[in-house]
Amino acid sequence: MTSKTTNRTPEPGFGALGIDPRVLDALTALGYEEPTPVQRATIPVLLTGRDVLAIAATGTGKTAAFALPLLHRITPSASPRTRLSALVLVPTRELAMQVAEAVHRYGKPLGAGVVSLYGGAPMEQQVRALKRGVDVVVATPGRALDHIRRKTLHLDHVACVVLDEADEMLDMGFAEDLEAILGALPATRQTALFSATLPARISSIAKAHLRDPEIIQVARPVTAPGETAKVRQVAYIVQRAHKMAALARVLDVEAPESAMVFCRTRTEVDQLTETLVAHGYRAEALHGGLSQDQRDRVMKRFRARGSDLLIATDVAARGLDVKHVTHVVNFDVPWESESYTHRIGRTGRAGREGVAITLAEPREQRTLRSIEAATGQAIEIGAVPSVAELRTRQLAKLRDRVAAVLAEDDVDRYRPIVEQLAAVHDVEDIAAAAIRLVARASETDREPEEIPSVVPKGGDRAGHAPRPARQSRRDRAGKVGGAVAKIYIGAGRKLKIRPGDIVGAIAGEANIPIDQIGAVQIGDRHSIVEVPEEKASFIIARLSASTIKGKKVRVRRDQA
Ligand code: AMP
Repeated sequence: MTSKTTNRTPEPGFGALGIDPRVLDALTALGYEEPTPVQRATIPVLLTGRDVLAIAATGTGKTAAFALPLLHRITPSASPRTRLSALVLVPTRELAMQVAEAVHRYGKPLGAGVVSLYGGAPMEQQVRALKRGVDVVVATPGRALDHIRRKTLHLDHVACVVLDEADEMLDMGFAEDLEAILGALPATRQTALFSATLPARISSIAKAHLRDPEIIQVARPVTAPGETAKVRQVAYIVQRAHKMAALARVLDVEAPESAMVFCRTRTEVDQLTETLVAHGYRAEALHGGLSQDQRDRVMKRFRARGSDLLIATDVAARGLDVKHVTHVVNFDVPWESESYTHRIGRTGRAGREGVAITLAEPREQRTLRSIEAATGQAIEIGAVPSVAELRTRQLAKLRDRVAAVLAEDDVDRYRPIVEQLAAVHDVEDIAAAAIRLVARASETDREPEEIPSVVPKGGDRAGHAPRPARQSRRDRAGKVGGAVAKIYIGAGRKLKIRPGDIVGAIAGEANIPIDQIGAVQIGDRHSIVEVPEEKASFIIARLSASTIKGKKVRVRRDQA
């Protein structure tokens, strides 16, 4: 093996896996520095053409693990009728769009054509795209079958099929559709099955449709007890769109003396650094795209407390040991528990308590739970601080700053001003006005807004790791056993609704124990909450007859 020293490849990692050099360029552009564990294990096997059964949850990098190898099969110059070489089946429309977007990005340098097919969208447009010819189809099973039956999707040249989130697809009732699609594919094709869990139904699909698969499960090593004992661990569940704002809010409220923020990609590091600097922080970026010299300078400044926030990728921060780090922030859930403990081990040094903060997307809660199981420690689920909490914290900071001046500085120079003003004003009013002046200096033009956090989903599905004993109130508020109904409530962020308001209204008005209320999602003008199916009608009736935050709102079953 030749080792590459050019700047083209992200790190030796991806190149060594045998990926097309043109695709490596795309990965560099995306800021990927090294393959994730599931990618390292899966890509070489898929490239040999062998079938794979991989146990991997969202957030592990599984999409690239199957998408990169399938790009090796594509034939963009073939005729539209014979061009389709890969089919990816996914459970939902959102995932279809997301996976198609990923394949498109990775495959751009190869001229790969990708289309996503899902229900609820007009057929004609999808048919037109298929007629023009594509290399990869990403589809939900129902819509894929629709196209197969209408003969608008031709599978005869498909060389590889991927079942992504296979357990979800079964849970959503797609078992028969999957059987039909798999039966319609060429027998010689390669099959890759990705699933977060391995229930018996998945094993039997694998037995029936995979040929001598390599089974890949990326082990999550157990961490020595006590290694992270002095670290308070908290996670905030937020939609991707709110992550930046949530990070800024959490940092504003936590006011870390010195923090390391970990991101997955160089691009993310750069964006985050820019945003945080604009937000008034002394933040610096550290990633593999910088020269050794630049990296040394950044680390030196951080050690000497010349910067407060170090925004880094894992690779760049490897081996970096800084004693005074008070907070470690995971802007994304790390790939594996080992990397999580490694990151958070950077705080809580020398007997001081450290804080580890993780921002997780709703889909990543399972990964969070497996980290808890591997480390044997609970990660508390917090609500992103509200504007009111932010203001309380800002006032407390102001008070501390004034107290510090009173304790240490000579203020005699300013006494004459106080004396002059005191002739007409109350001394307390004068003091308050002076503090107002200080506060104004750090105010920004934009009014802070509420940032919605999602109440965790706790549905106990087969196969996921058990929860450690300590649970926060919000954790418990996520469990809905049995059949689940979604209720639409016509009030959201614009009315300053928070998950607690919804949970409170249902618990109070319909007398439902909060541990039976599931995930709550707050949109701009509406909210969706999961409740037990058998209580849904009763809850709708009670909420319709009452008010939320003093307002009458529309309540009905969610039809999405
Ligand atoms: P997935 O588990 O496929 O949903 O991927 C989670 C996220 O990780 C996506 O935003 C990917 O773009 C990103 N990602 C995947 N592989 C890598 C990698 N090797 N380095 C950095 N980010 C990655």
